[in-house]
Amino acid sequence: MNTPFLISKLPKTGETIFTVINSLAKEYNAINLGQGFPDFEMNSKLIDLVYEAMKNGHNQYAHMNGVPALRKALAEKVYELYDNEINPEKEITITPGGTYAIYTALTSVLKPGDEVIVFEPAFDSYIPNIEINGANPVLIPLTFPEYKIDWDLLKENITPATRCIIINSPHNPTGSLLDKNDIEQLRKVTSGTNIFILSDEVYEHIIFDGLEHESILKYPDLFERSFVCFSLGKVYSCTGWKIGYCIAPEKLMKEFRKVHQFNCFSCNAPIQYAIANFLSQKNEYEKLACFFQNKRDIFQKAMEKTRFIPLPSHGSYFQLYSYDRISKETENDFAIRLCKEAGVACIPVSAFYRDTIENKVVRFCFAKKEDTINEAITRLYNFEQRS
Ligand code: GLN
Repeated sequence: MNTPFLISKLPKTGETIFTVINSLAKEYNAINLGQGFPDFEMNSKLIDLVYEAMKNGHNQYAHMNGVPALRKALAEKVYELYDNEINPEKEITITPGGTYAIYTALTSVLKPGDEVIVFEPAFDSYIPNIEINGANPVLIPLTFPEYKIDWDLLKENITPATRCIIINSPHNPTGSLLDKNDIEQLRKVTSGTNIFILSDEVYEHIIFDGLEHESILKYPDLFERSFVCFSLGKVYSCTGWKIGYCIAPEKLMKEFRKVHQFNCFSCNAPIQYAIANFLSQKNEYEKLACFFQNKRDIFQKAMEKTRFIPLPSHGSYFQLYSYDRISKETENDFAIRLCKEAGVACIPVSAFYRDTIENKVVRFCFAKKEDTINEAITRLYNFEQRS
């Protein structure tokens, strides 16, 4: 073999924790509370609409920027929810998932040497997305255990090279939220600067305890410097469909589309037609907060019999637990042992930090059937009684 020598563009990046844990869960036949995806059936009416779209001949390339009817329906939804009149022709692009939208947004603005503020723990695609563009992540820890932004610390880390700040609310992996004060602080930090905002809002509807989602779309002065990324897989419990979108002001979206057009070019057509139709069923997304809060509560209640200690989860699919009373192992070792010996897969939160920080906390996904949750917690209970 004479394979040419390859100098990696991502020397510090390994295989994503989601693939690692999924393989392990399969190998050990574990209940998979690791990667965030529902194990219950999505709404079959939406499946029927996809079939209908296929039968109606929507089987060729869709418009590069997304099926116009879908963009229009999404713009209407944004107006209703966030009082922002975005232009569906110029300010929204349909993407194959939220992660792709985030990558494309970062690639649109970053040049080698630029700095990007990343709050850790952070979803594991952000840092590689920055580095593949030759830019540098500036890592700022969220406070522990609240996982809030320390704005003074952020201010100390702003330099003339700061090009972008990534925010994520509801937050993966912690379930923390940005509040009005955070928005005010973000405004102070960015106003009058050349700093872009990348807002990852893929869990926009999954928010608990009557709290409100602080979308960047609600704030015109922040939106003018922002790319806001969403996931329809999270809205309709079909993460495997890989469909999402990005909203940004026209000037920014123009650059986003330059990158997008030569990457995937356009997304799955029948799925877009189907969702365009289905978006008029507002209850489908309005019910999500209550539906997932109920799952969080069932999960927390059943976990009370164990020695795991919950950290607050105000939104997302996720609930963090400290295992401090059970083991002194590292998060990675504990998660692997839990998978092998308890038969329950979870994600070590240390995987969301570049330089491993150990708080003895793991992430469980509770977007599961009640039976799955109960069986998983019985296994966790039996495991920790033996430990
Ligand atoms: N968002 C999902 C999670 O955090 C994973 C998506 C992925 O595997 N890239 O579990």
